[in-house]
Amino acid sequence: MSSFRIAVAGFMHETNTFGPSKAGYDAFVEGGGWPALVEGPDLIASTRNVNIGISGFVTAAEAAGWALVPTLWCAASPSAHVTEAAYETIAGRILAGIAAAGKLDGIYLDLHGAMVAEHVDDGEGELLARLRRLVGPDLPIVASLDLHANVTAKMVEAADMLVAYRTYPHVDMAETGRRAASLMARRLGGQRDVKAFRQLPFLIPIAWQATSMEPNRSLYGGLADREAVGLGSISLAMGFPAADFADCGPSVFAYAPDQATADAAAENLCAAVLAQESAFDGTVYSPEDGVREAMRIAAMATRPVVIADTQDNPGAGGDSDTTGMLRALIACGATEAAIGVIVDPAAAAKAHEAGVGATLAFSLGGKSGVEGDAPFDILCTVEALSDGHLVASGPFYGGARMQLGLAACLGIGGVRIVVASRKAQMADREMYRFVGIEPEAQKILVNKSSVHFRADFEPIAETILVCAAPGPMPVDPASLPFTRLRPGLRMSPNGPSAP
Ligand SMILES: [Zn+2]
Repeated sequence: MSSFRIAVAGFMHETNTFGPSKAGYDAFVEGGGWPALVEGPDLIASTRNVNIGISGFVTAAEAAGWALVPTLWCAASPSAHVTEAAYETIAGRILAGIAAAGKLDGIYLDLHGAMVAEHVDDGEGELLARLRRLVGPDLPIVASLDLHANVTAKMVEAADMLVAYRTYPHVDMAETGRRAASLMARRLGGQRDVKAFRQLPFLIPIAWQATSMEPNRSLYGGLADREAVGLGSISLAMGFPAADFADCGPSVFAYAPDQATADAAAENLCAAVLAQESAFDGTVYSPEDGVREAMRIAAMATRPVVIADTQDNPGAGGDSDTTGMLRALIACGATEAAIGVIVDPAAAAKAHEAGVGATLAFSLGGKSGVEGDAPFDILCTVEALSDGHLVASGPFYGGARMQLGLAACLGIGGVRIVVASRKAQMADREMYRFVGIEPEAQKILVNKSSVHFRADFEPIAETILVCAAPGPMPVDPASLPFTRLRPGLRMSPNGPSAP
């Protein structure tokens, strides 16, 4: 039996068009919290057993006996726009790899779905359309997407099938790749589904998108049941509400053998989300109110109170270096408290130069020019040093090897600070332990993350609070200076409409 030949590739970026820094080619070469850019045969080995879509797809494809043609896979930390040079270099190499692959039976792409480049608003739609032009109308193209994808009609049109993660924190990235492989198998088996695509009329703040909380617990929990009634696949994408272009926002996409079934499934799911519009909400504290509330709860608790420093989430385009929450911890006199990660390569290098035990002045963080934020001038003691290598063992990173560059634990009063040189979202307890902080032993932990930290920290948290210190990812998307959303789109649940 001749086996199917499937090309695999990946190009992932979540773009906050209001973020402080763009993603150039080097950001993809390095990968940030992701595996480094890899091309050709090494792709399979270097992404194996990592919690990413292509890893799950490859595992399932190998089990099915398909012959894989690896082209290029890369991802960068969320940030402002992908530069034109980076986009064209990477897209060009993926297309060249596929053009040179010879006869193929299908293509799988590991995509995010919320990439905006300097010259292209719809990064994935443009990539998929170029690919479709290259291979013609009949070669199956299947792509997995992030739950935060801002899906466009152009993406849906160019791909045979799109399938999105169903968890936030994204513990099912590899699982979604496996689902993409089963959809590819369905297509290779001769079932060519038709599509239904609907966009929802309001943006959803990421802090209230967690799938462990309502309403998403029920909405996502019900997808498999919706699929069971004659659908090939149905996905709900929450959207990434910090991309200023017409297709920003949540969407539903369904695939079925006939149009009526696909349309009905998409309409029903949209109605279910719309009925929950008011439920995408929660309490947001100012930095000092949040720290005081955490101290009050911690006084009686045996487990840490965890605070999300949500507006500087590097997973949403922040630089992970704002100082508002650190200032609040110190101003309120918090003790047995830790905060991470503050990315400041100069401070990390200075700590390494001074050595453990030294007390010296730092002008810490606050370098990204975020309005309302500034470097924090403080006297700290260097408590521990690290070369930045760690294995993130929690369920979100899923065993990923991280390289945060020179890193240190700085202490001031009862507060300890994880300082590193490269950014990655604080979503794993090992990101405290690698500089000698035992997260379980703290009364208060402040994590620069919006939701992904919940996967590894909910099990040890007394409670979780959300705080809004000045940062580039507002907890309320309606406060962003959007100018290019589609008219009528509500900029938050029950919020004001886009002009
Ligand atoms: Zn995401």
